[in-house]
Amino acid sequence: MITLNGVGKTYPGGFQALRDVSLTIDAGELVGVVGPSGSGKSTMLHLIGALDLPTNGTVTIAGTDVSRLPDRRLSALRGRTVGFVFQQFHLAAGVPAVDNVADGLLYAGVRLRERRRRAAATLERLGLGHRLDHRPHELSGGEKQRVAIARAVVGDPPVLLADEPTGNLDSTSGAEVMRLLRDLRSTGTTVVVITHDRDLAAGLHRLVHLRDGQVVA
Ligand code: ADP
Repeated sequence: MITLNGVGKTYPGGFQALRDVSLTIDAGELVGVVGPSGSGKSTMLHLIGALDLPTNGTVTIAGTDVSRLPDRRLSALRGRTVGFVFQQFHLAAGVPAVDNVADGLLYAGVRLRERRRRAAATLERLGLGHRLDHRPHELSGGEKQRVAIARAVVGDPPVLLADEPTGNLDSTSGAEVMRLLRDLRSTGTTVVVITHDRDLAAGLHRLVHLRDGQVVA
């Protein structure tokens, strides 16, 4: 599903955030990315999600070499293939949960009614059927992150990328979020998650350790 081959990333200014990273992630894997702050974890996730392009090497997502795509086709690939979850949730303030999730289908060419119907079904599947009309400030941290996950998966992308999704949560909500990621994996989604939490990392079946921009284990 995801292949990185000899991937390097040098930021403007010359900082080399990744060097010669090669990695294959099969469809349906749940992979954790760990390593010290500044080791290149977010950079790698952004490349996997085609949010950014490598300086060297190739990144292939679902069989497509992303560096060969023009911008418009790159956004289309991203919209179809990848869901993103971030530490800070990034929900729209003052907007009900169901509409936050429905926004995850904005690029899918689906009418508003159908978007809202699918959003409600996804929230129900993630145990938030009783929170459809709640606005972000009326939700707990764990609930906000579950809404963000619902938005990321409402379009059924084959790949879900999460950048420290439990970083702002207490341990109970964090464990709940990880349980959701495991459930998604069991239904076939490929999940890549950056985490600093050793307990959560210990529950993943594969870990990629980064240090100074390289895979060390
Ligand atoms: P991690 O997620 O492991 O903390 P990052 O991938 O965020 O690491 O960052 C790796 C290194 O690249 C850091 O030293 C960071 O300062 C640098 N970096 C990240 N993004 C940029 C950018 N847009 N421009 C310049 N340097 C960057």
